[in-house]
Amino acid sequence: MKTERRDVIIAGGGPAGLMLGLLLARAGVEVEVWEKHADYLRDFRGDTVHASTIRLLDELGLGDGFRRLPQSRLGNFVVPRNKGAGPDDILADFDRLRPPYDHIAMVPQWDFLDFLTAEARREPSFHLRMETELVEVLREGDRCTGARWRRVDGAQGETRSRLLVGCDGRSSRVREQAGLHPIEYDVPFDTWWFRLPRHPAERNLPAALVPIFRPGHLLLTLVRTDYLQVAYFTDKGADARLRAGGVEKFRDLVADLRPDFADRVSAITSMDDVHLLDVRLNRLRRWYRDGLLCIGDAAHAMSPAGGVGINLAIQDAVATATLLAGPLTDGTLSTRHLKAVQRRRAWPTKVLQTGQRLLQEVIFTRTLDGSRPGPPQLARLAARHIPALRKLPALAIASGPRPEHAPAFARRPNGVG
Ligand SMILES: Cc1cc2nc3c(=O)[nH]c(=O)nc-3n(C[C@H](O)[C@H](O)[C@H](O)COP(=O)(O)OP(=O)(O)OC[C@H]3O[C@@H](n4cnc5c(N)ncnc54)[C@H](O)[C@@H]3O)c2cc1C
Repeated sequence: MKTERRDVIIAGGGPAGLMLGLLLARAGVEVEVWEKHADYLRDFRGDTVHASTIRLLDELGLGDGFRRLPQSRLGNFVVPRNKGAGPDDILADFDRLRPPYDHIAMVPQWDFLDFLTAEARREPSFHLRMETELVEVLREGDRCTGARWRRVDGAQGETRSRLLVGCDGRSSRVREQAGLHPIEYDVPFDTWWFRLPRHPAERNLPAALVPIFRPGHLLLTLVRTDYLQVAYFTDKGADARLRAGGVEKFRDLVADLRPDFADRVSAITSMDDVHLLDVRLNRLRRWYRDGLLCIGDAAHAMSPAGGVGINLAIQDAVATATLLAGPLTDGTLSTRHLKAVQRRRAWPTKVLQTGQRLLQEVIFTRTLDGSRPGPPQLARLAARHIPALRKLPALAIASGPRPEHAPAFARRPNGVG
């Protein structure tokens, strides 16, 4: 079997893996990304690119190119009030943030990943193998020395590395083979994603995030460039029951929650159009071993609340490149540096997961068990009567805790990258 050598192997070409590959290549590190699929075309992944990530792309000189990708802007988080009860409640008001970092861009994840790939390929030390799966982590004693790969055509090989980074998502093989175990938190719900058409007359629909709360159900609609992306939330484990009920029953359920969708629910042609996200919330106690590190979803699966998944994965990648590029280029990399990555990124992960568990408790659990659907009345009253308060949740979502900035070696003027 042929053995090759790279400074760094990255398992997984998702947001974390491609951003890390791009940044390390800009530092001159020989880096190779392995992605098991042939392309990035998977629907209903995280598509939410937050203001902190847009700022980072500007610092990397990629902002202009990013803004040319097909995208819609996600505006305020608006909770409708009962008919005749007055104007809807705006709980998070993005209009109060300073442009241009005042919104969430909704970009199809495959377009975003294609874009990152094209930019990374400009760097001579960046290498990408598609349809190449990491099958085994190689070790000498306790030290990871590389990994074995298998291509879809059956070819196999080994690559030796100084560092293997597991960016292979929530079911990470790198994590499992390294014997790293996550702490799992209970999540009471799953999410089912589907698309509905957006009528021509709705061209100017405000790009707000509008949730509908009913005892046992939550329906969230995101306005995309030419369709509506809808998320249905109900009890965890309900997938078999929903599918057994059939598409007619599911359409009726959606039309009941949003009567204005009754004219288009026929676009859900079968339950195959309804995609389950088995929601998980977990994080590793320890993110590294000698010669090996996990980041992104491999280190922490996030709940969909706040759409933070992609952004946290990218911020992890930036911190990793910032802390490790120097030791990798001067040959001094040790577990001390890997520990520094965990120390830097574990704190924002904990903050966000604590926020998600709180939201889960005060909104999701009480909506799904029917005890009190929707956000607490106090939050709605505060947002209604003290408009300045609406800025805080928008700021928390747009920037997140500890946003990372591009390291000097990776910065480029905008439009040049
Ligand atoms: C169905 C679904 C819906 C989601 N919806 C949302 C959402 O609405 N909002 C949100 O913020 N987040 C959402 N997420 C989460 C979000 O997509 C992730 O948080 C984010 O993509 C994490 O990036 P990552 O690079 O760490 O991992 P991933 O994006 O999971 O990328 C991992 C990559 O590794 C590849 N891979 C896996 N194993 C191997 C292997 N052995 N060898 C080589 N390659 C491998 C995979 O093919 C994949 O491309 C969703 C996730 C899923 C699965």
